[in-house]
Amino acid sequence: MCGIVGYTGPKQAYPVILKGLKRLEYRGYDSSGVALLNNSSLNVYKKKGKVAELEEFLIGKNVEANIGIGHTRWATHGEPSDRNAHPHTSANGKLAMIHNGIIENYAQIKTELVKNGYSFTSDTDTEVLLNFIEYIQTNNSCSLEEALRIALKRVTGAYCILLIEAASPDTIIAARKGSPLVIGIGKGEHFLASDASPIIEYTKEVVYVNDYELAIVKPDELILKNLGNETITPYVTKLDMELSAIEKGGYDHFMLKEIFEQPSTIYDCLRGRLDAAAGTITMAGVQLNIEQLKNANRIMILACGTSWHAGLVAEYIIEELCRIPVEVEYASEFRYRNPIVNPGDVIIAISQSGETADTLVALNKAKEDGAFIFGVVNAVGSSIARISHAGAYTHAGPEIGVASTKAFTGQLAVLMMVALKIAIEKGTITQERYTHLLNELNDVPEKVDAILKNSEELKTIAEAYKDASDFLFLGRGYNFPIALEGALKLKEISYIHAEGYPAAEMKHGPIALVDENLPVVFVATKDSYHEKIVSNMQEIKARRGKIISIITDGDTISPELSNHYFSIPTADELIAPILTVIPLQLLSYYTGVAKGIDVDKPRNLAKSVTVE
Ligand code: GLU
Repeated sequence: MCGIVGYTGPKQAYPVILKGLKRLEYRGYDSSGVALLNNSSLNVYKKKGKVAELEEFLIGKNVEANIGIGHTRWATHGEPSDRNAHPHTSANGKLAMIHNGIIENYAQIKTELVKNGYSFTSDTDTEVLLNFIEYIQTNNSCSLEEALRIALKRVTGAYCILLIEAASPDTIIAARKGSPLVIGIGKGEHFLASDASPIIEYTKEVVYVNDYELAIVKPDELILKNLGNETITPYVTKLDMELSAIEKGGYDHFMLKEIFEQPSTIYDCLRGRLDAAAGTITMAGVQLNIEQLKNANRIMILACGTSWHAGLVAEYIIEELCRIPVEVEYASEFRYRNPIVNPGDVIIAISQSGETADTLVALNKAKEDGAFIFGVVNAVGSSIARISHAGAYTHAGPEIGVASTKAFTGQLAVLMMVALKIAIEKGTITQERYTHLLNELNDVPEKVDAILKNSEELKTIAEAYKDASDFLFLGRGYNFPIALEGALKLKEISYIHAEGYPAAEMKHGPIALVDENLPVVFVATKDSYHEKIVSNMQEIKARRGKIISIITDGDTISPELSNHYFSIPTADELIAPILTVIPLQLLSYYTGVAKGIDVDKPRNLAKSVTVE
């Protein structure tokens, strides 16, 4: 993962880079560092821990420079430490580099370099690549750009790198394969970053660099080339994002802000697409490819983490409404087995960042096998959005909190609309049911708002159970994936061990965990399984487990069985998951806060997983 920032232009580089690193900290916060080039003198500073520690460390240091690069790390090779922090400096001290990704054949290259007299000061794969570039440059007496090109042809794995050289005090050289890179074009200045958030306050004109491209960036010039040294014309796009979208706006944490934004992000997702009064859904990505979608032999959904849970909900919904078989796969598993993909298969890829490494590779593979790729992505212009044949954005705006919230509900809303659109075109849904579901979906933002108004109740519940060592989350049917999501959220944000299970399956194992200390969260809204899940509650109660239930307004039975309950507005069972997840997000949030955890930056995690 890692966040990278670069600047070259008339401004002081350090403040621009520092601010950028703070915005990118969601991508990793094991260490951070900057390399600043002032004429030909190269100053590199780095520190273990969050960006604030680097900032503190740099007070009073010489940070004078108009060009620089900065990095916030999510460690893959080598523990989080000052020594392993980026930027790395080459053996001759003349080059500095930052890297996002993994150089998979680093060990082999390292052995070669050691034979040639190199020694290393860190455990990273990055330092190996850097010294390899230096070695090529010295041996071939060539330019840095040429040396980089040669080196990259030998490298396997993923990278976005930024390189500076003492001898070229106004130039940053960048390259990418598999890890994102955006270049912002200012007036006589350029900004480079992993995503647009460090750039938007300076310029809205950006270039998304593609895989196997190299950028030579000076204050007044941006040259893009491929690895064959041919020049490519940069494709400039306009950012559609405001600065306020990436700031906390008075909330204690991004996660809380993002939870509370959901009435408007879901509304934004539906806006312009869903017209309940007219009974229509307008989605160009679906409409233009409707034959492909409705005649799919099967749909495979590829995703990771929270997006995988959205995929599971979609499986239930698409099978129910469209009568097309659906399989949901972890992208990381799919890519390494020998999956059967045939022309006529449709792949739906779900990713918040659109940069998830495993999902990207899996998609490329499925595309080669002739599948039609439909992307459900939040980050506009991201890699997955670009390699998909068609898709629909979730329009949730930048999601900064490491635990996904508003992107998830956006995914559910998009997938619901896709399913409804296919179903009506295919004739597998009655007009009456279709109209009913459109109206139900239309009402979601208002219902989410009503749920959020009662958030204090969840704070009370969180405080009551914050010291539990384990939690069990149970749900059935459409709410089963929400039980999984609730457990994942709690693990991420509060470090409490939690498991999600189908409520009926609980008897095949997890019930052994139940005693008077185990909180069991039931996602038990009124649906076709309701009586069954009430029986499951009885089973837990009989074993003295503590029951916390998420129920539908007006349910009188569940409260009697529950130690705590939280009611949500009535909703169709297909729509309920978009609502039932909200109290679980809040429960995790308040538990994490009650335990004193930095919920926006939980340990060991990073938001966008751009390494395998
Ligand atoms: N592999 C590099 C390191 O461990 C970069 C890691 C990353 O991009 O997450 O330092």
